[in-house]
Amino acid sequence: MKIGFIGTGVMGNAICLNLLQSGHELWVYNRTKSKAENLMDRGAKWCANPQKVAEQADVIFTMVGFPSDVEDVYFGEHGIFKVAVKGKYLVDLTTSKPQLAQKIYATGEKLGAKVLDAPVSGGDLGAKNGTLTIMVGGDQAGFNKLKAVFGDFGKQVQYFGPAGSGQNTKMANQIMIAGTMTGLTEMLVYAQQAGLDLSKVLKTVGAGSAANWSLTNYGPRILKNDYSPGFFSKHFLKDLRIALDTAKEMKLDLPATKQAKKLYETMVDKQQLGDLGTQGLIKLWWQ
Ligand code: NAP
Repeated sequence: MKIGFIGTGVMGNAICLNLLQSGHELWVYNRTKSKAENLMDRGAKWCANPQKVAEQADVIFTMVGFPSDVEDVYFGEHGIFKVAVKGKYLVDLTTSKPQLAQKIYATGEKLGAKVLDAPVSGGDLGAKNGTLTIMVGGDQAGFNKLKAVFGDFGKQVQYFGPAGSGQNTKMANQIMIAGTMTGLTEMLVYAQQAGLDLSKVLKTVGAGSAANWSLTNYGPRILKNDYSPGFFSKHFLKDLRIALDTAKEMKLDLPATKQAKKLYETMVDKQQLGDLGTQGLIKLWWQ
C-alpha cells in the first residue's frame, strides 16, 4: 500500500518502522527532518510538507503533538486538504479533540475522502512492538478497508462509531490513566517515607489487585531515575484538558481528573518539566 506518514516522533517513528517491516511503500514528513532519517535509511521517501505526502500516498496517517498541530497539517498553507483527496484515506492517530476529528471528517467527506480518528494506547513500547490498542471513529467502510494496515502496528483494534468516537474513547482511557499515574506516584512517595524497599513494593503490589500498566511500565523507570519520555507530560496535560473540556460540555464533573490536571499543571507549567515522561510527576515530591 502507498502510505504517507506525517509526524515521526516517539510514536510515529516506531509505527513507521513497523509499516516498513510489513512491506508498505512509505512517504514521510516531520517538522524536524532528522527524526525521519532512520526511516529514509530503510527506504521511506522524504516529502517537503504534508501536502506533498498527500499527493503521493493513498493512505495518509498523521501523528503530531497537539490539536493545533493537527489543524496545521490538515488545514494549513501546505496541508493535506490542499490536495484532491477524493478516494484517499485520512487517519489521525494523534490524541486530539473529538470536535476537531468531526471537522476533519466533515471536510474530507465533502471532498470524497474517507476519514478516521484513530488515537492509540500502549506507549512507546507498544509502538515499538507493534502491539498498540487503536480506538477508531469515523467512516466504517474506511475502517474495514484499513483493518489489515492497523494490524501492522496494533493488536487490539476497535471501531466505536461516528467521527470523534475514537477520540472520546481515548479520553475515557486518559481519565483512567490520570488515576493510575497519580496512584503510582503517591504510592511510591508513601512507601519511601515508610522506609520500605521500593522494588519489593512494586513487585508485590503489581501482583495484587492494584496491578496496572502504569505501575508495571513506569514504576521501574522511576526507581532507575529514568524520566525520559515515553509519554511526554506536556502531552498528558493536553489530554487531561481535552477530557475535562469535553466533560464540561457534557455537563459532567470529574473531580479526581481535575485534581490530576492540577498536579500536571504544576509539573508542566510551573516547574517547566513538560518534556519529561509522565512518570516525572514524582518530582513534585522527590527533587
Ligand atoms: P512527539 O515525539 O513529540 O511526536 C510528535 C511529532 O510530530 C514530532 O516529531 C513533531 O515534530 C511532529 N510535529 C508536530 N507538529 C507538526 C507539524 N505541524 N508538522 C509536522 N510535524 C509536526 O510525541 P509522541 O510521543 O510521538 O506523541 C504523538 C501523539 O501521540 C501525541 O498527541 C500524544 O499525546 C499521543 N500519544 C503518545 C503516546 C506515548 O506514549 N508517547 C501514547 C499514545 C498517544 P518535532 O520533531 O519538530 O517536534
